[in-house]
Amino acid sequence: MSACTGSGWAPSVPVVLTCLVCIGVWLLARWVKHQRYFPGRESFILLHAACLWWMLAAALEMAAQSAACKVFWASMAWPGILSVPAFWSIFLWQYVNSVRRPLPLRHTLGLAVVPVVIWLVALSNPWHGWFYGAGTAALSAEPGAPVRYQHGPLFYAAAAYLYLFMAFSMGVVIRAAIFSVGVYRRHYLAFVLLTIVPWAVNIGYIGFGWTVFGFDPTPFSFAFTLVAFAWLIVGVRLFDLLPVARHLLLEALLDPVLVVDPRSRVIESNPEALKLAGLQGDWQGRKLADWPVFGRDLQALLRQQASSDRDRLLILASSSRYFEVRIRAIERDTRQGSMLLGQMLYLRDVTQRHLSELKLAEALAISEERLRTISSLHEQLQEQALRDPLTGLYNRRYLDEFFSRELARAERERTSLALALIDLDHFKQLNDEHGHLAGDDVLKGVAQHLLGSLRASDAVFRIGGEEFLLILPGVDVQEAHKRLQSICQGLAASPLPTRSGARTVTLSAGLALWPAQGGALDELLHAADVALYEAKRAGRNRVQVCTQA
Ligand code: GH3
Ligand code: MG
Ligand code: MG
Repeated sequence: MSACTGSGWAPSVPVVLTCLVCIGVWLLARWVKHQRYFPGRESFILLHAACLWWMLAAALEMAAQSAACKVFWASMAWPGILSVPAFWSIFLWQYVNSVRRPLPLRHTLGLAVVPVVIWLVALSNPWHGWFYGAGTAALSAEPGAPVRYQHGPLFYAAAAYLYLFMAFSMGVVIRAAIFSVGVYRRHYLAFVLLTIVPWAVNIGYIGFGWTVFGFDPTPFSFAFTLVAFAWLIVGVRLFDLLPVARHLLLEALLDPVLVVDPRSRVIESNPEALKLAGLQGDWQGRKLADWPVFGRDLQALLRQQASSDRDRLLILASSSRYFEVRIRAIERDTRQGSMLLGQMLYLRDVTQRHLSELKLAEALAISEERLRTISSLHEQLQEQALRDPLTGLYNRRYLDEFFSRELARAERERTSLALALIDLDHFKQLNDEHGHLAGDDVLKGVAQHLLGSLRASDAVFRIGGEEFLLILPGVDVQEAHKRLQSICQGLAASPLPTRSGARTVTLSAGLALWPAQGGALDELLHAADVALYEAKRAGRNRVQVCTQA
């Protein structure tokens, strides 16, 4: 072994080429190491470390002069040879499934067990000969001539191990290509190609004896893989540009955004969402329902989302902030239809808008209430303007309106209309004897007496100091006379309570009828006044029907 490290080197074109590829692999791994968003990055770097190991060993094998040394360096290559397909398949699996978390250390170490064992087996070949057979020898007697290997059973065991991983890699990328469409499919098809080339070359070497410069061409096929990968990464930029641009956008957003997987676990959260939740680290993979502040509400919304696609206004219970939540499904189009990868929850802060809306609604309610008060006051005022404050009876203001309405009805229905002018007898005297206030009480009592004698269609007005007007629609003269007579006698028979004791008052009434005594209100009032005068003259406490035509 020491003889192989110390002397007998001859650098050649293939050696220099292999070293250049090594530098390429190393630069690529270094570049990937500094990429923030690169699914399967750790496996990708380990893959290139393994590849580097393999190629360096291959370069040393090519540079070594003696056949024994070449076999030694070929044996040294094995940890790299076996680790390349293992990490390649793990990288592909992580990339295709967007797994960002690195492979746990114990799994990585577990993957190193078989390569180390096979490495030791290969190194100890001179003692057992089960890895490279006795026929392993230089092709010619020339110094540095390539070695032709005779493969032993342990070699095939090692080959089976790496083929297992290669088959797994192929399965992963072919499946991804089948289930994707468009640019993703092309991307995955490129992966299939990259995976096939080293594999095909290796099969060619083992099965058919293909060689390059008389050596195993597999490491050189990695040169192709390297260039193709560099093209995919730098040329197509599918690895980094879009995810990074989207991520930067997410980071810059002033509204909280969360991404959950189909099992409702939070796999992405922008700084605003973390700020709202008061979280700093250790949040990835947390159940949405356990997410601080609003997790439960969001979980409930996600469940409701299945039945509706409208945005919802979520009101956070533990703070005074209001959010409008928009939920978008993240899907990948496949031939079988769309496949749900997760959901994005976008929380738009609408606190300001919501508060203004609340304030506006409040102001609207206040102004509506005011409007109602004003309308009711207006109605009251209108009513008050039409009524006499002492007796509560309608006053003259309402008389014109009421009379014209009743007149129109009487004309329409061809009925008559009676109008009676009432004046209290000797009222001045009552005032003088018992006081003005007692007189007011009597006026109120008379009003009640008149109201109590009315039918629904009748109306009574106070048109002067102690003068009242009765309008009785639809009655003829006999009926009108009879009813007024009854009112008159009823009043005379029932003393009215006043603050200075009960007082008996009488009334005189003059009765006029439409259309007999006139067509207009003035004419009828005049006729009734004439009749009233006659009633007074005839001795008061009586009803006089107008006799003039
Ligand atoms: P007559 O039988 O001829 O009608 O005699 P009278 O005393 O009733 O005479 P007249 O109808 O002319 O008198 C009206 C009186 O009514 C004069 C006034 O003192 C009294 N009066 C008018 N308005 C009111 C009022 O609002 N309250 C009181 N208490 N008295 C009033
Ligand atoms: Mg009078
Ligand atoms: Mg009078």
